[in-house]
Amino acid sequence: MAIDLVTRREWGARQPRGAYGRLSSTRGVKVHYTGGQVSPDIVGDHARCVALVRSIQNHHMDGNGWLDVGYSLLVCPHRKVFEGRGPNHLPAANGSGLNSGHYAVLGLVGSTGFTQPTDDILHGILDAVEYLRDKGGAGDEIKGHRDGYSTDCPGGPLYAWVKRGAPRPGGGTNPPEPHPSFPGRVLKYPPVMVGEDVRTWQRQMRTRGWDIDVDGLYGEASRDACRAFQREKGLSATGAVNRATWQATWEEPVT
Ligand SMILES: [Zn+2]
Ligand SMILES: [Zn+2]
Repeated sequence: MAIDLVTRREWGARQPRGAYGRLSSTRGVKVHYTGGQVSPDIVGDHARCVALVRSIQNHHMDGNGWLDVGYSLLVCPHRKVFEGRGPNHLPAANGSGLNSGHYAVLGLVGSTGFTQPTDDILHGILDAVEYLRDKGGAGDEIKGHRDGYSTDCPGGPLYAWVKRGAPRPGGGTNPPEPHPSFPGRVLKYPPVMVGEDVRTWQRQMRTRGWDIDVDGLYGEASRDACRAFQREKGLSATGAVNRATWQATWEEPVT
């Protein structure tokens, strides 16, 4: 998935007060968090992300006296990447003397309230890192602000992810495919149940390697296959496809 960039114009950034220092390359990127209270409401409301990014810029310019927001890029829970100083420009957020070594990428995660980085934030941070490698000569390193500087940043959960090597969630380059949602009725026998939902479940069972007819009829054979599958997955072996069994049919690894 391509990076979903929010330009400075789109988020209403103030103009920087001066010229940035230039960078042609760095050893990599340092990951930061917002710290403090971040309302969990931002997850459901992207307008709050925009407001938060603007307030961070105000704090950096008016509180710290910096010429602009200190980060290279800022990432919100909607996998959107806000332009900060951008590639090839010296950031200010890593600490004095530490800014030419690494670009600075912020995840909008707090130390209270919204504290657990979601998969979309982690994907967004990696989208930002790839963008800085591509456009700004960033090297392979992904580190935390606290590496080489006395701070809690980027907080426990984000730092633990950095220490694990900053993997893409789900192991792939994109989030897992969504699967058909539970039809809302339990598939069971007797009597024989008929329907497209039965066919959908049977097709997935076949994909998983079960010897089952994809005929849209939930009878004895479907029930027996269901029961065996439930035993294999440690589910209660009722022979009926309830919500948990339906989800397991897509989500459990094939063994
Ligand atoms: Zn930081
Ligand atoms: Zn957002």
